[in-house]
Amino acid sequence: MTRDSPLVALSESAILSAWEQGTGAAAVERPLILLRHAGRVVSLDGAASWTVGQRDGPVATGTAPCPSCGVPVEISFPLAAIRTDHGDAGSRMELVLDDGRRICFRLPTTADLRQASECRSAEDGARMLAAGCLLEGRSADDAPLADSVVDALGSAMAEHDPQSDVSLEARCPACEAELTVNFDVADYVWRRVAMAGRGLMIDVHQLALAYGWSEAEILAIPAGRRHRYLELV
Ligand SMILES: [Zn+2]
Repeated sequence: MTRDSPLVALSESAILSAWEQGTGAAAVERPLILLRHAGRVVSLDGAASWTVGQRDGPVATGTAPCPSCGVPVEISFPLAAIRTDHGDAGSRMELVLDDGRRICFRLPTTADLRQASECRSAEDGARMLAAGCLLEGRSADDAPLADSVVDALGSAMAEHDPQSDVSLEARCPACEAELTVNFDVADYVWRRVAMAGRGLMIDVHQLALAYGWSEAEILAIPAGRRHRYLELV
């Protein structure tokens, strides 16, 4: 198991703690929990007012299986490349609907996403998000917002905040196949944390059984030496 690059910012005890808190949390809360553990964000409210792209920025690198041969392909991309045009939570965007109507909206922040995630269905959530972010151009027969407006706003938001869903291209080193990966940064990082957390827990369990050390003592052992102890168990 590798516990490398994307999580360098998290200590092993932070990984365990983030994993524990994130497991019971809604998906939209997890990036905030990770950011708190990475020490980048002290205040939850501060993080919650970022747009989604800004929130996900600092921890994105990854691997994906090649679709034709299954070999894990390392996809490395300079963060600067996808950080150039993340949305700005404060700015107003314009959109012209199919019927010619012009509307103004802002990008959703994590606080908006959290609220939307409490809706009973994804459709209700999308509607709440659209209604909350629509600043201007609502028409009298728009209560509740028409599906077409909700859809148009959803696409426009994704377009203006591209970092929340990044599309990456790479070539498989084994079979040369081209792959395009749609990369949900927050989900990816969470899965890495969960995997690392599970692995750490197994390590702690085995060493505690064998040597009687505490969790804190085991996590304090440098990873390389700990793996050599594990080989002896
Ligand atoms: Zn391949």
